[in-house]
Amino acid sequence: MEHAVAMTQFPYAGYAGKYLRVNLTTGRIETLSLPVEWAENFLGGNGIGAKILWDEVAPQVDPLSPDNKLIVATGPLCGGLMPNVSRVEFIAKSPLTGIYGDANAGGHFGPELKYAGYDLIVFEGRAAAPVYLYVRDDQVELRDATRLWGKGCEDAEKILQQGNHDPELKTALIGQAGENLVRFAAITVSYRRHAARSGIGAVMGSKNLKAIAVRGTRGVRIADPEAHRAVALRLHDQIRRNEFFEGVHRFGTAGLVSLMQPMGRFPTKNFQHGSFDGFERISGETLREEHLVRDVACYSCPVGCDKVYTVTAGEFAGATTSSLEYETLNALGAGVMNRDLPALIHANILCDDWGLDTISAGRTISFALELVEKGILSARECDGLDLAWGNCRAIDELLRRIAFREGDLGNLLAEGAARAAKILGRGAERYAMHVKGQEIPSQDGRAQQSMGLAHVTSTRGADHLKAFPVIDETGYPSEAVRRYGDQYLPELVDPLATRYKAMLVKDGEDFGAVVDSSGNCKSGGTFVMAEVYWGDQADAIRTMTGMPMDAARLKIIGERIYNLQRCYNVLHGITRVDDVLPWRFTQIPSPSGNAKGSVCRLDVMLPEYYARRGWDDASGVPRAETLARLGIGEASARVRDAIASGDAARIRANLGWAAPYTGRAVDEL
Ligand code: SF4
Repeated sequence: MEHAVAMTQFPYAGYAGKYLRVNLTTGRIETLSLPVEWAENFLGGNGIGAKILWDEVAPQVDPLSPDNKLIVATGPLCGGLMPNVSRVEFIAKSPLTGIYGDANAGGHFGPELKYAGYDLIVFEGRAAAPVYLYVRDDQVELRDATRLWGKGCEDAEKILQQGNHDPELKTALIGQAGENLVRFAAITVSYRRHAARSGIGAVMGSKNLKAIAVRGTRGVRIADPEAHRAVALRLHDQIRRNEFFEGVHRFGTAGLVSLMQPMGRFPTKNFQHGSFDGFERISGETLREEHLVRDVACYSCPVGCDKVYTVTAGEFAGATTSSLEYETLNALGAGVMNRDLPALIHANILCDDWGLDTISAGRTISFALELVEKGILSARECDGLDLAWGNCRAIDELLRRIAFREGDLGNLLAEGAARAAKILGRGAERYAMHVKGQEIPSQDGRAQQSMGLAHVTSTRGADHLKAFPVIDETGYPSEAVRRYGDQYLPELVDPLATRYKAMLVKDGEDFGAVVDSSGNCKSGGTFVMAEVYWGDQADAIRTMTGMPMDAARLKIIGERIYNLQRCYNVLHGITRVDDVLPWRFTQIPSPSGNAKGSVCRLDVMLPEYYARRGWDDASGVPRAETLARLGIGEASARVRDAIASGDAARIRANLGWAAPYTGRAVDEL
């Protein structure tokens, strides 16, 4: 195994100034200087990840082939003093969508990688047999992972820590779902946290890379320690005094269940409804009252939204889990009509251990349950399972068959709802609730218009976290005024209003790109409590790194990152035609809660969104002048050539998933 080192001095603090390039095919490991222009133009995290994909992974590349790359990246704030700067990003071409993909996780892995002396790792190629990467400061080795292969995430982490005599070893690893190339496999980080979306775990599996194990003993340099400490202390203090602090601290994201229910924004029965009869049984309040063991926090987080829960009696007594989020309570609860909280805790444990994204897993199963309900999937095709709504035992068994790709149905659903729909045909695409191949998370664009827009404009397929519009979720007028002034009230904070939502979503996407590239968590101070905004983030980056930075420069960086991700998708033939929601959201008025009678008005919001973005209204492609303004003008020639040559359309035709059904409402057929 070869380990080459080539270094120059890096001019900014906050960064380690080095990164690793690991070729799994040859075993060659290089330690390289971080290019300064990457940091100055794209910060870190998924900004630099997008730049590497753009430069190095051609749109023709199969996401599960050795030619795809997996980028594991921290940002300049990660491991520092700011609140909740724990995040590590995983970026690759997504096996689920076939386009740009990323996922991130908190915990302690990101800071540990920085303390080991690396801003990021780029994995290339494919190992001949299972391996893991061991990093302890300058010691970087690919090691045999044969005895880890086939293990669940919990066991694999224990074996790695015990085998290396280091209980503090921080890990990022895959379970059996990643090994089996399930297209919505997750990467589990330090066992409790999960980089779950985009099928990023299957990319690790395709490379025969079971785990990354990291220990770092160095610190991170701060450019102006006194000034940075002052910014960090101010924001820690503001977060603790935020009006939502106590609720998020007590209930985590699970507290959203009770808030979303009356809005009609709690997806139920594969989005047939927006409220769930029996939601109290799976609420954050019930979880805390009946199952809480203790609160847990990621690195440098004053919020501690994570919880450890256990089941004390009954069939699942002893089942203990953490990271049981709102998204999971919905996708594996209301989404499949499951009111049994201990069973839901158990299902979460199965997904965490096998390494499945609970959102996509729940939505893909609710898709299958609806196919059975509508008679599209016959009893014979269910491989002996009684796939009735709410049948927890059958759902657990289906999760297992998906994770292990066992049986025809398990193997089919391991492809995700949109691919399974294409393979099945027979009108199955009408019930696959996705955007660009990724299953829709636990919001309903009929009940929160901005979220419907965010789902379609996300660069990684259906997603709530790119724009993460929270100001109009339950209405947050004080924050709306702080950010935008009072001229946009009351519509801006009204979840059912469409006015100003294009502004909200674009601003959230650009700020989110900066957050994901800096190392912050969105559930903490940046989005949910909204205490950290453009000016604060610029102050934090400037004092941490010494890089000249203000809100105006940071806004350009955020917009640049988001546009580059969009351009990468355009190379794959993604255009306005793909910025759509399934028929259920745009044609069937919501039957639930405050949203009753409402549909998602993409027809109103999207044109304004494209105009604000500087994207062509007819195609949704970023205009040449927009890219030039953002300093990535060279991207427009490549995009133009891909469209003109027909390459983009050819790639789009082979992405493998059935487009969301947008024809006449199924009820009218
Ligand atoms: S808010 Fe929650 S997810 Fe975010 S850093 Fe804190 S504990 Fe981790």
